[in-house]
Amino acid sequence: FDMFVLAFFERLFRTTYRKDDFVLGKKLGEGAFGVVYRVSLAKKPSSKKEGDLVLKKATEYGAVEIWMNERVRRACANCCADFVYGFLENSSKKGGEYWLIWRFEGESTLSDLMLSKEFPYNVGTSSHQPFVETMIIGEVQDLPKGIERENRIIQTIMGQLLFALDGLHSTGIVHRDIKPQNVIFSEGSRTFKIIDLGAAADLRVGINYIPKEFLLDPRYAAPEQYIMSTQTPSAPSAPVATALSPVLWQLNLPDRFDIYSAGLIFLQMAFPGFRTDSGLIQFNRQLKRCDYDLNAWRRTVEPRAGLELRKGFTLLDLDGGIGWELLTSMVRYKARQRVSAKGALAHPYFDREGLLVLSLMQ
Ligand code: ADP
Ligand code: MG
Repeated sequence: FDMFVLAFFERLFRTTYRKDDFVLGKKLGEGAFGVVYRVSLAKKPSSKKEGDLVLKKATEYGAVEIWMNERVRRACANCCADFVYGFLENSSKKGGEYWLIWRFEGESTLSDLMLSKEFPYNVGTSSHQPFVETMIIGEVQDLPKGIERENRIIQTIMGQLLFALDGLHSTGIVHRDIKPQNVIFSEGSRTFKIIDLGAAADLRVGINYIPKEFLLDPRYAAPEQYIMSTQTPSAPSAPVATALSPVLWQLNLPDRFDIYSAGLIFLQMAFPGFRTDSGLIQFNRQLKRCDYDLNAWRRTVEPRAGLELRKGFTLLDLDGGIGWELLTSMVRYKARQRVSAKGALAHPYFDREGLLVLSLMQ
């Protein structure tokens, strides 16, 4: 069944919204390309004070972000925040602005959680039951303590992040802005989901094909910076791109850009000292000096490592060092040598219990 016919009928029968339907609440974020608010429906004021939807008022890139969200909603709904509707709001400025609506997933991004001293034990604690306990059903008594327990939570978060990334990549979408600020803990599903498709590229259909490298966050960007090599011809029209892009995907492995960023998140979770901006920037500088060779970096820092660094190595060295092995297969200079999201999910770091946890959450 043709995707566009499907999209047409879906649009026809779905509830549509316009500007006056929303009551604006608290501002959640403001970037160069849009402002995000918590909102509620005017007709149906939510029982909660704050509203159960999120609105992004976006500039010209909003059109691409709507496209990406529509596509994700059809192809891998659970990977990203639940998208409700997007439209061009024409009444105010000339040219108008794009309004995008999502369900409000929860209060905390992975960044919020990671910046707390409690991390990773604070994950999911705003609801009544602790995170890990509710997920590892039947195993509550056997929960490991200390560093092993911490590792178990980080493993679960990484598993969920990679699961979501695999969904996006299998759909042909590269996110290009994977960072803790763009990973939200969904209180409904008690899983982490990806948000902010504002810099994403859909390579199968050629949408946002020309690299907008100025959109990329330098703290989390892989060294290649650009998704496609500069030799790649500029954006072909949609039908041509559909035929060509699987080949380009194979040649350039654009998905591995996100893998590098996800690897940095893994690193930040293991090493508390790299969770702040300045900490991460310092790490990036050190790694660059080691030519992006994590093992070389380890050799330079480990001999004079303080408590926090040593704790990170201890965590990654558990079970014969499979955590370290996974990390080094994600954070590599050459995109070609980085593991794919699917490959990472099959890594022994995610043991049978880990996979059980993953499947329980879908
Ligand atoms: P920006 O382009 O400003 O980075 P984002 O889409 O990342 O826009 O949203 C900004 C912030 O708004 C996020 O970091 C998050 O705190 C919050 N947010 C966005 N979408 C949701 C959602 N669906 N549920 C809850 N909070 C959200
Ligand atoms: Mg964002």
